[in-house]
Amino acid sequence: MPGTHVVTVDRTRCMGSGICGAVAPEVFALRDQRVSVLVDEPDDPAGALQAAGICPALAITVLERA
Ligand code: SF4
Repeated sequence: MPGTHVVTVDRTRCMGSGICGAVAPEVFALRDQRVSVLVDEPDDPAGALQAAGICPALAITVLERA
């Protein structure tokens, strides 16, 4: 069942810092230690929003599902 928020990672921008996975491991993980991928979409967007705010590549978008 999809979460209440849609989270996307622009993999062309991601520099693999791993910050998002450290802040919200329920949402993000690094693939091959290089690019962030989604683990799951959250019902509580707090962690994903925090990660989006501190992502150094501005690669994360969090939108409320319509
Ligand atoms: S915080 Fe941003 S740059 Fe760092 S791994 Fe996550 S999406 Fe990529």
